[in-house]
Amino acid sequence: MKTANKRLTAERLVRDALEKAKHFADYNIFTFLNEEGAIKRAREIDARIARGETVGKLAGVPFALKDNFLSPEGQTTASAHILEGFVSPVTATAVAKLEAEGAIMIGRTNLDAFAHGSSTENSYFGPTLNAYDKERVAGGSSGGSAVAVALDIVEFATGTDTGGSIRQPASFNGIYGLKPTYGCISRYGVVAMASSTDCIGFLTKTPDDMDLLMSITSGQDPKDMTTLPDYYETNTHLATRIGIIKDFDNDSVDAEIREALRSKCDLLKSKGYEIVELEMPALKYALAAYYIIVPAEVASNLSRYDGVRYGFRSENSDTLDGLYLNTRSEGFMPENKRRIMIGNFVLSSGFYDAYFLKAAKARTLIVQEYEKAFDKCDYILTPVSPSPAFKLGEKLNDPVAMYLEDVMSVSLNLAGVPGLAIPAGKSASGLPIGLQLVGPRRSDKSLIEFSKELM
Ligand code: GLN
Repeated sequence: MKTANKRLTAERLVRDALEKAKHFADYNIFTFLNEEGAIKRAREIDARIARGETVGKLAGVPFALKDNFLSPEGQTTASAHILEGFVSPVTATAVAKLEAEGAIMIGRTNLDAFAHGSSTENSYFGPTLNAYDKERVAGGSSGGSAVAVALDIVEFATGTDTGGSIRQPASFNGIYGLKPTYGCISRYGVVAMASSTDCIGFLTKTPDDMDLLMSITSGQDPKDMTTLPDYYETNTHLATRIGIIKDFDNDSVDAEIREALRSKCDLLKSKGYEIVELEMPALKYALAAYYIIVPAEVASNLSRYDGVRYGFRSENSDTLDGLYLNTRSEGFMPENKRRIMIGNFVLSSGFYDAYFLKAAKARTLIVQEYEKAFDKCDYILTPVSPSPAFKLGEKLNDPVAMYLEDVMSVSLNLAGVPGLAIPAGKSASGLPIGLQLVGPRRSDKSLIEFSKELM
């Protein structure tokens, strides 16, 4: 990563990034540009460099922050009307760690409101456009972050991945995107979507940048009791066998994506790796289980937005109940409401056993399926999604078609295992194709290292 020094100042790096951000304004990448704050921080860093102080591993490196990370700079809206006007009193642990190494946030990026979606079209601020084709979606929910990196505005951006929101937009825009092992990076200060599957991660142009960011941000945090004891640097695993999932090799996956997978397998074989065919039948339950468990957690996590404590408050009522009702009716996007409804339904006393409990059991089967698979191979290589970036509007009015986008990504979140989206060439029409490398829990570092074999 290009860091600041006496000749190349942090202020220069930041001004260049801000200029590019403005140049690409029509892509609708940013919900907020941190012009004043970023330049002020850059000058502080330049002053420290001038005094000969060491600044950190990310000295003066501009970055983009997905707008569901809390920090006092700008409003944290999660691209939802209901959070408009909310200025956070706290800073997310991941952001604090990046800033302690000298990184500078130049802006907050657009997402599907509350990270509910696979296209960034569910944003209150309108969709972000794909870096390769303005008529297509950026992917989601970290669409703004992916396009900011793909268009070289910044060298890295933060993301959150509850069911694919880092990997799918990374693959739609031809870059790297990592969903780490659950608990690797603290979730403190990040707007919660589904607490048992939410993961913090990054979008970058290279595996080495990913490794650097992981080594800076991973580790136990007393503010998040689900963080794992520091393991990131110590796991160095040598891979020899790579699994491919037979069940994914069928017509529901775009032919060009299957071809990209085959050609990467040939490359690995030529380097002496063994390709192992896996049957993972429990994965067919992943999407259904995900769309029960996640809405259940969403419904709980979104119950705190009542118009009293955070952001937007509807003025159209003179009773307390009316205030809750109108604030939530006006403040949430349709997809947020759909998930609140589904979540409360599957948790309700009459349906808990039939839906939530069954989904929780299916989740256990999926965890076990991955454990069995990793007895037979070291890593698994799969598509990220069934097709490259789709057209804007194509799936917006068909929630089930949109949910099907996630059919290959959500099982990793249910199992807590890491997945790295890697660029794997382009389609005949010039759209990026992505594949994902999946590893056992805590294999994040070696997974990133191994991805270089596929370059
Ligand atoms: N597309 C998935 C969903 O809508 C994943 C979202 C995410 O990872 N935040 O639930």
